[in-house]
Amino acid sequence: MTNNRSISFWWDTLPPALASSTRTSLTSDLDVDVAIVGAGYTGLWTAFYLKQNNPNLDIAIIDANVAGFGASGRNGGWCSALFPTTIDKLGRMFGNQQAVAMQVAMHDTVSEIESVTKDFQIDCDWQRGGSLVFARSTLQRERAIAGVENWRKWGFGEEDYSYLNPEQTKDRALVTKNYGASFTPHVAAINPAKLVRGLAAAVEKLGVLIYENTPALRIDPGMVTTADAVIRSRYVVRATEGYTPSLAGLKRAIAPIYSLMVATEPLSDDVWSQIGLGKREVFSDGRILVIYGQRTSDNRFAFGGRGAPYHFGSKISPEFDRTPKVQKAIFDILVDLFPVLEGKVVTHTWGGPLGIARDWMATATFDSTTGIAHAGGYVGDGVGTSNLAGRTLADLITRKDSPLVKLPWVNHRSPNWETEPLRWFGANLGLQSMVVADASENIFNRESKIPKLVGYFTGK
Ligand SMILES: Cc1cc2nc3c(=O)[nH]c(=O)nc-3n(C[C@H](O)[C@H](O)[C@H](O)COP(=O)(O)OP(=O)(O)OC[C@H]3O[C@@H](n4cnc5c(N)ncnc54)[C@H](O)[C@@H]3O)c2cc1C
Repeated sequence: MTNNRSISFWWDTLPPALASSTRTSLTSDLDVDVAIVGAGYTGLWTAFYLKQNNPNLDIAIIDANVAGFGASGRNGGWCSALFPTTIDKLGRMFGNQQAVAMQVAMHDTVSEIESVTKDFQIDCDWQRGGSLVFARSTLQRERAIAGVENWRKWGFGEEDYSYLNPEQTKDRALVTKNYGASFTPHVAAINPAKLVRGLAAAVEKLGVLIYENTPALRIDPGMVTTADAVIRSRYVVRATEGYTPSLAGLKRAIAPIYSLMVATEPLSDDVWSQIGLGKREVFSDGRILVIYGQRTSDNRFAFGGRGAPYHFGSKISPEFDRTPKVQKAIFDILVDLFPVLEGKVVTHTWGGPLGIARDWMATATFDSTTGIAHAGGYVGDGVGTSNLAGRTLADLITRKDSPLVKLPWVNHRSPNWETEPLRWFGANLGLQSMVVADASENIFNRESKIPKLVGYFTGK
């Protein structure tokens, strides 16, 4: 039995049956119909929907660690309809009809996850309170209003995306520097580890085999090679997202970028009365370097942000999960939003790598000649998108002619990232320019924070 509670706050909340792992590693060769590498949401949802399409398929999933070890067990718990590529860019790349189809599919995805978790009794503290993106400067307000107007141009109404003025925003959250907010109901707050560990148990009940502590060394057509065994299968699914560069031949396919989080102690009703978020609306603000938060089901804040540096050579290491200076800066931002948190205790810090494609375009790809499929490149929007990916890969593999297989991200090929040191230089320069852009916008409640933040994020 392995205890993985230190992976994230979410893992620490798991009931014993979900937290402990008695799954074995793969020690002898195996023949199956579908081999899946990676037991995060992408691998598990793909297995789930393959079984829905064809219950007779023999499916094995291997994970280098434990199911839910990666971003799926560590994220901010926004189950959203956000897609990493903007609808404007999708329109330019694939035409307007396809761009709208993609967004509608993302809206449907949130309801799909809600109904599967209900039907399969996966308790993940689901609450669909929507999301608030606070505007905290005049510039952010202009951007919020323009953003909502843009959704109207694409045909999405008030029921999908709306602007809340400062008074309406105050009814939901007592944030400092309140210039209004944009709101969408297409987001639920969840406990991500409960979702991924519950989903792993659910697919096992459907007959899927899961092997843990079994890293794939390489993926080839019809074959996955591990240290102790070979899996032969007609189809192979790569579902390794930020960890992909560790696989042979895939060093430059995805850049792993760290996102770091903190959780506070549980807060009293009195504190929450000075904050709001009564419907557990998840929240962010209009800054460029993304921050994201939720009120957890046990009344804490779980709050995170990007800005940790990209590590040379796409390196991933447990030591990168905790960078005290960055996590202190993240808590400072939370206090800046809600000053009543000053002096409250941070009980957990953690982080993990998410996957970014060179063109920031996610994909669900299947090559019918080699039988190899993969999905990923979700940036920070993989909770919803990975479900759509799983359904799509299942339809592609089982040759189901569904509307999903015609969506524009299907079989999209992103270019490789540059070789080092260009990749390191470009990624960190990009992060740094976002920090500087935000610092110039006067969004902080306490002005003295600005230079400090620039220092934190550059690691100086
Ligand atoms: C801190 C943080 C906050 C985030 N917040 C949000 C959010 O609020 N909303 C949102 O939508 N998205 C968010 N994301 C992104 C989201 O969590 C991911 O996009 C999503 O979980 C990706 O799922 P996945 O299954 O593709 O990858 P992962 O969950 O990373 O799973 C990949 C799995 O592959 C395994 N693996 C790796 N290499 C091998 C190998 N060689 N052999 C076998 N197995 C291997 C790993 O152990 C891992 O379990 C966040 C990410 C992070 C890190």
